[in-house]
Amino acid sequence: MQVSALEFMQRISVPPIVEEQLDDAERAALKAGIKALMKAQDAVLVAHYYTNADLQDLAEETGGKVSDSLEMARFGHAHPAKTIIVAGVRFMGETAKILNPEKRVLMPTLEAECSLDLSCPAKEFAEFCDQHPERTVVVYSNTSAAVKARADWVVTSSIAVKLAKYLHARGEKLLWAPDRHLGRYVQQESGADMVLWEGSCVVHEAFQAEALVRLKKLHPDAAVLVHPESPEDVIALADVVGSTTQIVEAAKNLPNREFIVATDNGIFHKMHEEAPGKVLIEAPTGGVGATCLSCAHCPWMAMNGLRNLKHVLETGANEIHIDEEIRKKAVVPIERMLDFAAMMKTQVSDGVD
Ligand code: SF4
Repeated sequence: MQVSALEFMQRISVPPIVEEQLDDAERAALKAGIKALMKAQDAVLVAHYYTNADLQDLAEETGGKVSDSLEMARFGHAHPAKTIIVAGVRFMGETAKILNPEKRVLMPTLEAECSLDLSCPAKEFAEFCDQHPERTVVVYSNTSAAVKARADWVVTSSIAVKLAKYLHARGEKLLWAPDRHLGRYVQQESGADMVLWEGSCVVHEAFQAEALVRLKKLHPDAAVLVHPESPEDVIALADVVGSTTQIVEAAKNLPNREFIVATDNGIFHKMHEEAPGKVLIEAPTGGVGATCLSCAHCPWMAMNGLRNLKHVLETGANEIHIDEEIRKKAVVPIERMLDFAAMMKTQVSDGVD
């Protein structure tokens, strides 16, 4: 009997959040050592917004990038460095390797998973696709290389609605995986006919609408910024629904002084940098009895730090390898996504969209 995505979600063991603790002297020594190693090895660092402040700072100090997963993929692909270090979770390292088979891709840790990826094993996903052969398969970037290899399109949250509208206008019916909340939101915004895999992000799923209503009353002038991996009732309370980059841009560009933010709080580092003087408030999670499994921070992102980054540069450990057959298939929908994103960017700047 086929196991449902919800059952896979229940089986996921979410680790506790363990943040790297460093004093100033150790931080400075680690950063100096890493910079020397990166230079010697022709390496560039791309870090996700949800990683810790030290990694984000180091990426920018060394000519790398702090961004969402789409921009991480684009940047790593375009950068001439021979080694790409990906600070984030495993699917991000895999995406970098799929796009750059000739480059060495390292990650500070290979233990950093993602509940969306874990909820969508390749074999069961293939069976789901086989049940809907007439549908165009669209998968979120938070999936394994093998799941991407089965897809027609890969998307990130920043372009998901645009792509669904585009495919819907071409008369295509969609099969979406793995995030059910984002899938429902995309369905609602695009009007596309979609069947959904029922995975979820353990971080965004913990945001609570009732508690958010109470918080809004305490901060009536605050704009509410929500990532679309959040539950439907939380999205319904948003002033802006957007990807991580779109959330950073909203804090920068909206006139409000206060923002209630429903996404991983690792993003606050970049938001403070881009929107100095603005007050950022975490959207509530879990309510009474909440644990650290539901406090707006991804335990897998927190596994990345300066210590394990230095270790991989010293030892060459944690290199990403992908089966070439799978890679050749997975690169097709990723390149489609990058081409589509580039086309949308052109249309936006031309005022078409
Ligand atoms: S925050 Fe959620 S979607 Fe992002 S890596 Fe963590 S579990 Fe996955």
